[in-house]
Amino acid sequence: MGTPIQLAYLAAAVLFILGLRNLSSAKTAPLGNQLAAAGMAVAIIATLIGQGIVGWGVILAGVVVGSSIGAVLARRIEMTAMPQMVALLNGFGGGASALVASAELLRIEPAMAGEVANSVKSWAIVLSTLIGAVTASGSVIAFAKLQELMRGAPITYPGQQYGNAIIGVGVFVLCAMIALDPTRITAFTILVGIALVLGILLVIPIGGADMPVVISLLNSYSGLAACSTGFVLGNASLVISGSLVGASGLILTKIMCDAMNRSLPNVLFSAFGAQPESAGGGGEDQGVAKAYTPDDAAVIFSNATSCIVVPGYGMAVAQAQHAVRELSDLLESKGVNVQFAIHPVAGRMPGHMNVLLAEADVAYDKLIEMDDINPQFPETDVALILGANDVVNPSARHDESSPIFGMPILDVDYAKNVFVIKRSMNPGFAGVQNPLFFHDNTMMIFGDAKKVVLSLVDAVKNY
Ligand code: NDP
Repeated sequence: MGTPIQLAYLAAAVLFILGLRNLSSAKTAPLGNQLAAAGMAVAIIATLIGQGIVGWGVILAGVVVGSSIGAVLARRIEMTAMPQMVALLNGFGGGASALVASAELLRIEPAMAGEVANSVKSWAIVLSTLIGAVTASGSVIAFAKLQELMRGAPITYPGQQYGNAIIGVGVFVLCAMIALDPTRITAFTILVGIALVLGILLVIPIGGADMPVVISLLNSYSGLAACSTGFVLGNASLVISGSLVGASGLILTKIMCDAMNRSLPNVLFSAFGAQPESAGGGGEDQGVAKAYTPDDAAVIFSNATSCIVVPGYGMAVAQAQHAVRELSDLLESKGVNVQFAIHPVAGRMPGHMNVLLAEADVAYDKLIEMDDINPQFPETDVALILGANDVVNPSARHDESSPIFGMPILDVDYAKNVFVIKRSMNPGFAGVQNPLFFHDNTMMIFGDAKKVVLSLVDAVKNY
């Protein structure tokens, strides 16, 4: 490959790294996105110029079809459906890597097989195919769970872990057989089939509140598959971009594990998030929840000097971020100190709440991470829960039978007054009832988050 092409790949890699670097702060994130996109454009052009893999007709057809589907999806998909979309895109990435690696295996002439056997290339082919296929089918299951096309609760059965372990061993034996003799097409076909099944089996036992870990792990897998495909094709740019995605996905997985208070081995090897028979699914009598109106809330706000807003998935559904910004400005003009508490897994994707609140121009220094805001709740007059549920469920702290026991939560129940805005008494994503709603200091304001917040704005203005 010529020096200009290598230099272009180097430039692309530098742009990817600068892009990631800029993504670490909300202010520089748009620039980060542009740098990374420019890097990708450079890498694509260099690849097209540098290698005559297929004809231009095929490439142009792919660009037209892919871009059209991408443009329609990007315009049509609701912001609340973005996590499913990300899950699906991870799957496409994994699937693409598996397909490219498979094509490379099929291109190996029998006469060349001896040379390729047990080489970096043959091992990279089996790894790309394995990780890519696991990612593809696992991501489809994650998509189906998030889109509520299938039950979100964990699917478990006796001997599940032993079964998975046996399949895992079988997969590695097949990988070794194919890497040592790349002409074994039947074994390769079986490997693809088993890897697809393994992806499904690895994701179905995960449910409840633990999907964030799976999504970030699948994201990391898609990067690792791409990296491995980079070795298959001898494409440095793909190796670098794949490792960046793989490494950043792993870091995100670690952050999500910490947020759920789980270790990675626990995520990988146990059917966690299962709901025990006795767990609080919502059936048992927890007392009576008190329903309040926005006018009642305005009275309490008139005596408050501090308020912590806790946004959750319901804020995203209702698109209430602009309304809550208006309420926050109004309260501040009346001398109330308003802050926003950000739980790492609130919403349905990492950083979901930050993105929505940034879109509504809420000042970034008003968004306070869980560990920093928790000590402030006991001194706070009002905790305003806006469509959050699991991330404020106190049973995670003390109820060992709860599926979310051990997950760190926002300590809203320690605030002097707690308002919960949601439409009903329905549970959150984990499917467990929330005892917070029945506490003495909790007042429920039922309704769509945006409508309730706008009524609150009127009520506070007119009080
Ligand atoms: P939850 O899903 O626990 O609860 C959201 C609440 O919002 C529901 O109880 C619902 O109640 C309410 N709601 C829905 N629509 C509206 C509306 N229009 N107006 C007002 N309220 C509404 O959300 P949390 O953010 O507290 O927790 C996130 C959960 O999602 C966690 O379990 C997390 O593990 C999981 N998850 C997170 C991911 C991530 O990466 N962040 C990825 C995948 C899953 P009602 O129907 O009564 O209105």
